[in-house]
Amino acid sequence: MPVVLPPGAGYLGKSRRRISASGLVTWERCPRQWHYRRRIGLNDATVPEMIIGLVVEDALCGLFMERFEVEGPTPGISSWVNYSREQSGLSKITATDEVIISDINSINNWIYLVIPSLVKEVQRLLKKRWNEKNWTAIGRDISEVKDERIETLLKGGIELQLEEVENCFNNQGGPYLGQYRATGDPFTVPAPCWDEEPVKPGESSNRIANSGFQTDKPVSAWEAWEIARPWVKDPRVAEPQRLFHPEGWAAGEMDLVHRWDGKIRICDIKASAGTSGYSTGLANQLRFYQWLWKITRTHPGRPEVGINGGELSGLEGWYLNGPHRKNIDLLDEETLSSEASRWNLIHQQMTLSGLHPTHLAPADPAPWVTHAPGGKALTVEDEEGAKELTCERCTAVAFCDASPEKIRSKALSALTSPEIGNSENLLKELIPKPPCTNISSIPRRLNVKGEVKGHWGPLSNHYGEEVRGATIVVGDTIVVIEEMGSESFGEIPAGSELALLDVAPGLWRGMTRLYLDEHSQIKPVSEVEDIEFTRLGLIPTKANLSGQVVSRGGTNGVNASGKPWSMSTLHIWDGESVVEVVAFGSAINRTFEEIRVGDQIRILSAELGWRDGVPQVRIDQRQTRIQVK
Ligand code: SF4
Repeated sequence: MPVVLPPGAGYLGKSRRRISASGLVTWERCPRQWHYRRRIGLNDATVPEMIIGLVVEDALCGLFMERFEVEGPTPGISSWVNYSREQSGLSKITATDEVIISDINSINNWIYLVIPSLVKEVQRLLKKRWNEKNWTAIGRDISEVKDERIETLLKGGIELQLEEVENCFNNQGGPYLGQYRATGDPFTVPAPCWDEEPVKPGESSNRIANSGFQTDKPVSAWEAWEIARPWVKDPRVAEPQRLFHPEGWAAGEMDLVHRWDGKIRICDIKASAGTSGYSTGLANQLRFYQWLWKITRTHPGRPEVGINGGELSGLEGWYLNGPHRKNIDLLDEETLSSEASRWNLIHQQMTLSGLHPTHLAPADPAPWVTHAPGGKALTVEDEEGAKELTCERCTAVAFCDASPEKIRSKALSALTSPEIGNSENLLKELIPKPPCTNISSIPRRLNVKGEVKGHWGPLSNHYGEEVRGATIVVGDTIVVIEEMGSESFGEIPAGSELALLDVAPGLWRGMTRLYLDEHSQIKPVSEVEDIEFTRLGLIPTKANLSGQVVSRGGTNGVNASGKPWSMSTLHIWDGESVVEVVAFGSAINRTFEEIRVGDQIRILSAELGWRDGVPQVRIDQRQTRIQVK
């Protein structure tokens, strides 16, 4: 449910700095796991389940955006299928059959007519996304996902939505029938529909009553479908469609919001039966949305026209394999407020994690709780054993010094190639040899002094984020200073001789940079004592590192100014620490792309950069040398 654009929107608002519902759920599973996954960006090998959920959810939400013909038959093709094909440059497909929508049963008939083409399109997208991944799990392939599995998930979501439509029909269209008939979707943020122009975050609704709405008659099935349509994320809108905390430190992206019965229910779609330990996170995820919903109702950036949405009345998990509707109790005011304080504290801990090698989020795994279908938690008999199960499934189990010895050894063995023999040999082999240094020796923070010159004004960083920058000058030496991320530092104080404390050194486009974030300070030199300063000309900006590749990833997109960007990433582990290595745009060369998890590599003369307070080593296409063993 969009409210407004994110504060300091950049990089399409995907800041690793905000606390999100999924980040919170990972933190509650284990804060250290959050550090590895979110702060350092360590990935797991892609398995089909990671993409099935996303694509099936898109297909369902696209289906819910359908509008049936008012006069005459509705062709048996989902608009989402053709929209999705067009996004891939493919031609539209045409319907071979059609249905006249006259009652709920005919809606059912239409949906069942389009299911085969929905399944086909989901399968096409699954294959496409699978092939785009540069790291997939050994022994898994997208071809193992059979049509029946996709059909079961789609039918589960359809069944739950048709229950809404039927309830709406049986309740005479609910309390908003008159408003829909007079003015169309009456909500401030209308439910997206393929036959209506999209509405961007913060924009006023563009709805007027469609001719399908009647007057003075009992509600029709056509009307019930329209009124029971949930709010979903509109795929035609590029801007983030999330609930953003007014102060910008938290955001949540909901799947469905049902409003037809005069109450609000936030629903989250899960492409499973809800039996795994991951189901534990559902309640917290939805309650996080409850809190964001509450605090954004009076946001000044919200459009004024229309029904604001009101108070929440329910939270639901929709497990598609079943299907099962799991109701989650809303938190009362007092508990919600104390939870919000706790989340704020967690956000502060997240911000600090990793700024210093010794300052990591605590290793505190929660027990892995299995569930009966529908997300019903089963009793944990052996709490310590259940915690070990969480570690066993953790991305970082081989690198985390708090993981149980037995499980870590197993994970280390899996990283050891047969030629190396055993993990002791592997650890010996990974010890960096000159000129490479330990990852933990990457210089993190330093202090400089000089005269800050130039307007503290906007410039674009690697991600196309708008950050503020200026220069610091001593004699003939000039160094650029800039924010580490959008709005991560405040204003520069007045004064000619300033001390910049706890700033992070780096290099970009061949120039030394000093990055400032919330942990940096600028003070008049006269106010600081007993501080060791680094000379501007001696700021470390390069890194020589070696290690085994333990993760691959990458993404691309369009930045805030409309320019496309791409990045390819890998993580190396030197037997002690893990660091992200990233190549942007033209630095993504063949050597980099061909590096696989398990390879041992040396990276010489890489640029030192930063992402959200932790080092990120960057490939310079001219200077950096990569050697793959
Ligand atoms: S291995 Fe266990 S303790 Fe370590 S980060 Fe993972 S879940 Fe946490």
